Amino acid sequence: MISTRDGRPGVACSDRREKLPPPEPRISKPGSTEAEGLVSEDHTAKRANMHRDEVSRQIATCCRRMWEAGLIAGADGNVSVRVGPDRILVTPRGLLKCELEPEDIVEVDLHGVHRGGCRQATTELDLHLRVYRLRRECGAVVHAHPPTATAFAVAGEAIAGDVLPEITLLMGEVPVVPYATTGTPALGDATEPFIPGHDAVLLANHGALTWGADLAKARIRMESLEHAARILLAARTLGRVTRLTREQIDALERLRGTSPHDQY
Ligand SMILES: [Zn+2]
Repeated sequence: MISTRDGRPGVACSDRREKLPPPEPRISKPGSTEAEGLVSEDHTAKRANMHRDEVSRQIATCCRRMWEAGLIAGADGNVSVRVGPDRILVTPRGLLKCELEPEDIVEVDLHGVHRGGCRQATTELDLHLRVYRLRRECGAVVHAHPPTATAFAVAGEAIAGDVLPEITLLMGEVPVVPYATTGTPALGDATEPFIPGHDAVLLANHGALTWGADLAKARIRMESLEHAARILLAARTLGRVTRLTREQIDALERLRGTSPHDQY
């Protein structure tokens, strides 16, 4: 056990490749069907690894951008991306998000079993897995503590889906999940009923969770949620929040699916 760069105990990520078992020796005659099969198998495995490396880079970049945008502080928040029917890449626990490197990213299966990487997955992994299990089309989940949206969560107030067209189109109403202790199955249990019918939720006294077909869409939902929360708060200080009419919402919903942001 060594000390990681944030001072927490952990293992050095540079050890990761050394810990992998050596590849099985493969003996085959060149030009044979078997050899061709192995070449294409190797090619597929290489492409899968390149894809994982690229997704790990995207996750690290996403974390840095959320930190720069003030949506998270310190080790707050976590991000995951589905890279196979039963494989998820997810941020590790404890590390500062602004310093995350692609090699810090952890691979788990849909049951949360560790499948790759030298760190431990986020303590809020269960929350992500619940979304992937209940929304098969979901490709990415983002959890952050955006200040104004979280203020609504602290107040126990949903973000209305019928005030700002962007929110109507991107995610609709964002409800508040009742409080439960972070990092425990109780938080997943409390969140589950909201997952099938929503694309984003506020977690009472905690933060927000968004998801989407890919990482860009999940992150855009998080950014837009915080932006909407700021506008709603400002409108309140002006003394009036005007809601869209049913006809206006119907007109927006007819656009659903044609918006570039909204292709789930
Ligand atoms: Zn959290």
